[in-house]
Amino acid sequence: MNYQNTLAFAQEQDRQDPLYYFRDRFYFPQVNGQDAIYFCGNSLGLQPKSAQMYIDNEMYKWANLAVEGHFKGEEPWFNYHELLAAGAARVVGAKESEVVVMNQLTVNLHLMLVSFYRPQGKRFKIITEGGAFPSDQYALETQTKFHGYNPDEAIIELFPKEGEHTLRTEDILQSIKEHGDELALVMMGGINYYTGQVFDMEAITKAGHEAGAFVGFDLAHAAGNVLLKLHDWDVDFAVWCTYKYLNSGPGGTSGVFVHERFGNDTDLPRFAGWWGHDAGERFKMQKGFKPMPGAAGWQLSNSQILPMAVHRASLQLFDEAGGMEVLRAKSEKLTGYLEYLINDVPVGKDVLEMITPQDPQARGSQISLLVKQNSRLLFDKLMEAGIIVDYREPNVIRIAPTPLYNSFEEVYRFSEILHECLEGVK
Ligand SMILES: *Cc1c(COP(=O)(O)O)cnc(C)c1O
Repeated sequence: MNYQNTLAFAQEQDRQDPLYYFRDRFYFPQVNGQDAIYFCGNSLGLQPKSAQMYIDNEMYKWANLAVEGHFKGEEPWFNYHELLAAGAARVVGAKESEVVVMNQLTVNLHLMLVSFYRPQGKRFKIITEGGAFPSDQYALETQTKFHGYNPDEAIIELFPKEGEHTLRTEDILQSIKEHGDELALVMMGGINYYTGQVFDMEAITKAGHEAGAFVGFDLAHAAGNVLLKLHDWDVDFAVWCTYKYLNSGPGGTSGVFVHERFGNDTDLPRFAGWWGHDAGERFKMQKGFKPMPGAAGWQLSNSQILPMAVHRASLQLFDEAGGMEVLRAKSEKLTGYLEYLINDVPVGKDVLEMITPQDPQARGSQISLLVKQNSRLLFDKLMEAGIIVDYREPNVIRIAPTPLYNSFEEVYRFSEILHECLEGVK
């Protein structure tokens, strides 16, 4: 695409953008009495205005039906999770039976590791990305310890080559091959939260399977951001949160994918609870766990209706917008425009380094800028000027314009303000 560094160009893109008016469906935080330019949807997505109504519905049912709400009314809580599976499955490219919405991300990661990290003999190692999100690191560390291993021996972390910021796919695949017969699991983020790099999940899954290992992904930064085809890629399991690109509220609920080939596999170890028990017999309260088929059989507790109601409101917007392909098309243009404008800020040349891949296929709605001097000061100035981005130690600013509620004009205004702030911190 041929971009131009003018307000008129940005406004013209907005006029041609069929998704432009979706921004009216969200609340924007206020800074200095104005809507902030909110580029932090990779950390906490904005509130859909419809979320309140979805919550109010459930509060109304609770007030009027109380315990009867589990079985009475239009959408009884007994199978409330089923109302989310189809929409969530569309976001991650799965069959409805392969997806369940429950718990929170790190809890679900542990549940999946119980089923899919099954070290045996010399096959006990896990390959993962170095510098993964800390919760993932702690989950892997404590799971390997739980099985009696030393995490330093059991966990192989992959780091970029000297002088590079992102991993090369060929190096990931090579490493999987090299460690082949020692590998129990390949477990990575779908997108690295720090650099914004999208990993080639299809190739990694294939290589992991060829090595005889299970393969799973943490899609916290990928779900609702990039196109995912978990079923077709043959991924074994995946987990994601819903409060980032999926706009479902602070600490919101989480999604789980279990490939259908495991859906009825009662030999897989799992930690069970009554909500994963065969729905027809759940309330017989009998001994002997019989899992529901599919991912739903991993449920533990009765559904958290309020966060799940918010997630329904949000999934509804994803469908209304036309789904992930439509969103992804805008996201590529928007992020491309951001990249173009940052490169066009003359004062930034010596100070800023983009550590997010330049290849649009290897990134989502995020650009991470490594700031070589006065990084914290630059961040503070941006925030004062009404731009909400985020800062990650030691010196990275992450900027995430999202296709559902951000505009080309906002990206343009951001670059103007970035320019001014850079002048101010020189
Ligand atoms: C955001 C994020 C988490 C957060 O986990 P919670 O259990 O939702 O607090 C974990 N892993 C990754 C990769 C993340 O980006």
